Amino acid sequence: MNEARPGPLGLFGGTFDPLHIAHLRLALEARESLGLSGVCFIPAGNPALRDAPACPAAHRLAMVERAVAGLPGFSVDATEVLAAEGNSAPGYTVDTLQRQRRLHGEERPLVLLIGADAFARLESWQRWRDLFALAHIAVATRPGHALKFPAGTQAAGAHGAALDVEFNARQGKAADLAAAPAGRIVPFAITALEISATAIRGRLAAGLSARYLVPDPVLDYIESHQLYRTPHGH
Ligand code: ATP
Repeated sequence: MNEARPGPLGLFGGTFDPLHIAHLRLALEARESLGLSGVCFIPAGNPALRDAPACPAAHRLAMVERAVAGLPGFSVDATEVLAAEGNSAPGYTVDTLQRQRRLHGEERPLVLLIGADAFARLESWQRWRDLFALAHIAVATRPGHALKFPAGTQAAGAHGAALDVEFNARQGKAADLAAAPAGRIVPFAITALEISATAIRGRLAAGLSARYLVPDPVLDYIESHQLYRTPHGH
C-alpha cells in the first residue's frame, strides 16, 4: 500500500444496545479480510426505522468505548450520540456518511460495514441510493439472513428488486475497495455467531447471564449501572 495514501477506513454504525462479541468479530474480520486501515464504531443517537433503543445513547456509547479501548485499529466516533442529546430527530446513515466524508476528504476510501440483515432493508433507508456516492458498503454474513456467495453470483431475490440491481452492478471484491473512494458493494463472510442484542436484552431482563456474549468490560458496565433489568431497558 502507498504510505502517502491511507488505506480504506471501515465505518461501523449500529445501535449497540448493547455491543456484543459478534459486533467485535465483524469489525475485526472486516479489518483483516478487507484490508482496512482501521474501523471506526459509530453508535447511533436516535436510530431511524426502529423502536427507540432500550438504553440511553450515553450508556450505549460508554459500552462501545469500553469494549474497544486499547484495541489496535479500532476507534469510536461519538458525533451521532452527541448530536442526539436533547434532540429527538432521527439520525440517518446518509448524513453520518456525509459528515465522515467531510472529515476524511474526497479521496479516502470509506467502507460502511453492515450485516446481511441490515443490507436486506437498505431500500427503506433515507436517500439510500446516495450512500453509494459516499462510501463502499461491505456486507457481512449473518446467520438466518440470506446473502449470496461468492462474489460474482447474482443476488437472486434475497433483497428488493431495486437493491438487487445495485447489488449486481456494484458487487466487487476486497481488492476493489482501495481503488476508489466509494461505490462498491462487497460481501464478506465472517464467523457465524447467532447473537443479537435483542436476545441479550431478553436474557438480562429474565435475570440470566450475558457473560461470554458481551465483552467483560461491557458486562461490568451493564451490572454496575443495572441496565436491561426490565424488557424495556433499565
Ligand atoms: P438488535 O437485536 O437490537 O436489532 P443487533 O444485534 O442486530 O441488535 P445492531 O447494533 O443493530 O445489533 O447491529 C449493528 C450492525 O451489526 C448491523 O449492521 C447488524 O447487521 C450487525 N450485526 C449484529 N449482530 C450480528 C451478527 N451476529 N452477525 C453479523 N452481523 C451482525
